[in-house]
Amino acid sequence: MKGEKKKKLPLALLIFIALALGILAGVIFAATGHSKFAVNYIKPFGTIFLNLIKWVVTPLVFFSIMSGVISMRDIKKVGSVGIKTVLYYLVTTSFAITIGLLVANLMKGFFPVLETSGLSYDPPKSKSFMDVLVDIFPSNFFKPFVEANMLQIIVASLFIGFALLLVRQKKTEMEFRLVDTMNDLFMKVMEMIVKLSPIGVFCLIAPVIAENGPQILGSLAGVLLVAYVGYIIHMVVVYSLAVRAGAKISPITFFRKMLPAILFAFSSASSVGTLPINEECARDLGADKNITSFVLPLGATINMDGTAIYQGVCAIFIATCYGIDLTFSQMLTIVLTATVASIGTAGAPSAGMVMLAMVLQSVGLPVEGIALVAGVDRIFDMGRTTVNITGDASCAIVISAWERRKQKKREKKELKKQSAQ
Ligand code: ASP
Repeated sequence: MKGEKKKKLPLALLIFIALALGILAGVIFAATGHSKFAVNYIKPFGTIFLNLIKWVVTPLVFFSIMSGVISMRDIKKVGSVGIKTVLYYLVTTSFAITIGLLVANLMKGFFPVLETSGLSYDPPKSKSFMDVLVDIFPSNFFKPFVEANMLQIIVASLFIGFALLLVRQKKTEMEFRLVDTMNDLFMKVMEMIVKLSPIGVFCLIAPVIAENGPQILGSLAGVLLVAYVGYIIHMVVVYSLAVRAGAKISPITFFRKMLPAILFAFSSASSVGTLPINEECARDLGADKNITSFVLPLGATINMDGTAIYQGVCAIFIATCYGIDLTFSQMLTIVLTATVASIGTAGAPSAGMVMLAMVLQSVGLPVEGIALVAGVDRIFDMGRTTVNITGDASCAIVISAWERRKQKKREKKELKKQSAQ
């Protein structure tokens, strides 16, 4: 245990140093006119690092969820944890989008009014709620892995996990051990890759700063500020209250122990990529393995509170630029569509911007407006990913504490029963 602690601290510190050095290097590249060098020769190493994570994360999620299901040993328990998880995610996401809309309306004064004529943005094929629903279920065994479709992988692993539990009586424990071994194996591979994260973080952040540096100071600084105020309020208020009330953890401890995952998410802008570090942090905060292995991959796929805040802020900003005043019922529509859109958003860089189109269309705002914020999407994305993964971890911690309390109550009841007999 002691050895484990010793290992964790230096990684957090190294990631922090790498982030600081990466920002500094980015500023220097931008100031000396060498942004192209950073993009051409440093960014590819960041891409290699993220690619490696993406490569291993699909089998990891597949086996990790299966082993989570198996270790709960009871389909009912999986169902009850699943329902609580989805409810937690939905409730926190609706808080997030409400905070996003409130902050954007209150801080409208910070928004620049930009020229909208001549804007063009090629909107992606928009997805309806039913499309999102149908897409959750795979139609081919291998396709989810080939396309790294996380939701479909989760569905597949749940089905196979349940099946394993059901055939348990007839078979030996071998299948169970096989799943656990595969899980351990891919965890080990992931551990090896995560050791490279300080280098990865440096190579990811330096080109972003080199490319965006001057733009951040440009006209969109006000919009970025409003989004970040929304992100921070949501993290500090909603997650602090949740971990305090649900797991009796002080918010300071929560954020301190979450720091490695937060820094990693900030520099990689990928919830899925942050999964392994997030799992370590959540476990360090008392979340149980069988809960994290199920709740975190699901959260990295469907729970996007930061994305919802971003969509609310951008919708109001774009409306302002077009001189449109949104009505209350339009705001409510945004709350609903942003919640669905954030569920449909993949845990990968820039995915949330694509889904912004769906939110804008739902209230009749021009989709071309996305072009106004596209240039600095990465800066929005770093913040929203940080919020996204912190929300996932808070859920794993709260649900673990809840399940432990339930278990204790059950044990007490049993004891009472036994002593009464
Ligand atoms: N990059 C975000 C994530 O991975 C998704 C988004 O673009 O909003 O969580």
